[in-house]
Amino acid sequence: MKNYIVKKERLNDLIENLIKTNEVIAPVAHENFTAFAPLSSPDQIVWGAPQTVIPPKQFLYPQSEDLLAYEFSNDEVKITGLNTVKERILFGVHPCDLNAIGQMDRVWAEKNIDSNYPAKRKAMTLVGVDCLTPCSPEAICLRLGGLDPKGRFDLFLTDIGNSFSAEAATPKGEALIEGAVAAKAADKKKLSAVRKKRNLIFDKKEKKLLPKYQDLPKLMKANVDHPVWEEHGKLCYGCGSCNMVCPTCYCFDVQDYMHVSLVKGVRSRVWDGCMTEEFAKVASGENFREDRSHRLRHRTYRKLNYLFDKWGESFCTGCGRCIKACLTKIVSPLEIANEIYSRKI
Ligand code: SF4
Ligand code: SF4
Repeated sequence: MKNYIVKKERLNDLIENLIKTNEVIAPVAHENFTAFAPLSSPDQIVWGAPQTVIPPKQFLYPQSEDLLAYEFSNDEVKITGLNTVKERILFGVHPCDLNAIGQMDRVWAEKNIDSNYPAKRKAMTLVGVDCLTPCSPEAICLRLGGLDPKGRFDLFLTDIGNSFSAEAATPKGEALIEGAVAAKAADKKKLSAVRKKRNLIFDKKEKKLLPKYQDLPKLMKANVDHPVWEEHGKLCYGCGSCNMVCPTCYCFDVQDYMHVSLVKGVRSRVWDGCMTEEFAKVASGENFREDRSHRLRHRTYRKLNYLFDKWGESFCTGCGRCIKACLTKIVSPLEIANEIYSRKI
């Protein structure tokens, strides 16, 4: 990791130059919410924005993506890949979303290596921006380790007064701020003071969340039959909104769109969600998770237990999107775990 200092007045010029030669995507204002969108000017960026409704994973793993086209001719099938890859700079990504992308990087390089995601990821440059105060009332990232980006970026900016600390984790990140001066000992001291203050603010906000991050899988395993599943589950509408907004949900369905001529078609993958009724229904009509409380339990276990056991980290980064999106105000996986924990003590 290399540390640099970028004067605030210089950053706008840097972004302006990047926009001239690249597609730069950042959080911009849309009525009463923010969304990642291509910039035409640095003035559009909403600094310190609340989490966007849809996470930035949409640029790597789109909600609907045509994977291949096929055509039958002379007893042969011709298959063409359809992955569209564009060089992009994703700017202003919160630490929780950098962690979520880091987790997606691991998932898509698992046993059955995907070809679409890694190609898009290789063409993407990630610029994160530190959150010095919670971005929204729903954010619970400190307790889940989501506030520390763990080097999962090309460049990471932290506001340290009249300058930005710029940490470059890759040559791509360094190239973005070419000509920036190396951070001196005094700058590094300032950065650690800013981070210390930040952590105290987040700690105060999240003080009611008691279970330790590392103990979540154990807590989950011991409470498969806890009444919280039924209590929260009966409030759930099964709408799947919590799945759709989550930066770490990656389940999908594959659909074939056959042309009426029956000689050609397109195969697409679309996001799917374990909270919907159809998700665990099989061809015979049997549904393995018909009950909404079972679906809520499954989703919580997936975030805090199954994937933790597999990857050594929680697959909830505490972004708070699911809490915000839920019409019936069902709380996040960590808050459910907290309820279980608190009733025991
Ligand atoms: S489960 Fe909720 S809080 Fe956790 S990462 Fe997904 S949307 Fe964010
Ligand atoms: S958003 Fe709320 S109501 Fe909809 S499926 Fe998720 S928990 Fe249930």
